[in-house]
Amino acid sequence: MQVSGDSKKPTSVVTGGAGFLGSHLSDRLLSEGHRVIAIDNLITGSRDNVAHLADHPDFRLIVHNVTEYISVDEAVDFVFHFASPASPVDYLELPIQTLKVGSLGTHNALGLAKDKGATFLLASTSEVYGDPLIHPQTEDYWGNVNPIGPRGVYDEAKRFAEAITMAYHRTHGVDTKIVRIFNTYGPRMRLRDGRVVPAFIGQALEGSSITVFGDGSQTRSFCYVSDLVDGIFRLSQSETHEPVNIGNPREMSILEFAEKITELIDTGSTIEFRPLPEDDPKVRQPNISRAEEILNWQPQVPFEEGIVETIGYFRKKTGN
Ligand code: UDP
Repeated sequence: MQVSGDSKKPTSVVTGGAGFLGSHLSDRLLSEGHRVIAIDNLITGSRDNVAHLADHPDFRLIVHNVTEYISVDEAVDFVFHFASPASPVDYLELPIQTLKVGSLGTHNALGLAKDKGATFLLASTSEVYGDPLIHPQTEDYWGNVNPIGPRGVYDEAKRFAEAITMAYHRTHGVDTKIVRIFNTYGPRMRLRDGRVVPAFIGQALEGSSITVFGDGSQTRSFCYVSDLVDGIFRLSQSETHEPVNIGNPREMSILEFAEKITELIDTGSTIEFRPLPEDDPKVRQPNISRAEEILNWQPQVPFEEGIVETIGYFRKKTGN
């Protein structure tokens, strides 16, 4: 499977390339002069996310489930492994697929990188820290994960993915990187993927009630997608094999977030409290010292700017 275009350009495979993060990463790689082969089975990703790249000479989308053997018959310089359901609602609906893509899919993607002599970058997650007992989370924290709870299918798949990535590095000498991604938001999130950012924006745009789970005192730290992608690109060019947190340390409670959304979208929505899902982490905030030091990276987009951009995207999508 060849992408047309200049064969001297670096070639990147992006699994999950039609997803929220994978599509933004593909855009960035193309702008850096890479050829991009996106591989996606479209269970949570969408062709819409890469529709603007359909005629790009250096971009190609292959519809394939990376849980099955991945065949690419040309040179590959980078493998970015981003395929996975990623919202709690999605991975609760797709528990086996989530476990398989994190385990078998990561094994296949590593095998491809090994075969091609490519650099491998794993999209890991702050979920490896589970319901964290240290705050903010540093990369040397081993986490507090319930393996048999409903979120375990995602958390443990990603923990396994990190383990096999390090094993391929240590055993086979594959040049591997691991990014631990904290809550990220921006255009191309799915309106009904269940995550708090699209959920609250969608509810406010419709004027329906904002569903805050628990008492809303749990915290998250939201990173705008362009900042995340910049950190990932820098990591791919770095020498480090240790996991690196990429996220925005600005932390807020979910109730505070709901209030901000109702201020920005003035449709009279009121807040409705719902039960807190099982094992919902109480706090989450990245310590980004390692990214600052190794990658010279810091988030640039303030929450107030990124959220307005994201609301604009959903307004267009929904016509509200
Ligand atoms: N949440 C909420 N209402 C919703 C969706 C999510 O209060 O309609 C809360 C959820 O319980 C969690 C936080 O928002 O505490 C972030 O949830 P999300 O699903 O975005 O991702 P998580 O960070 O839990 O993986």
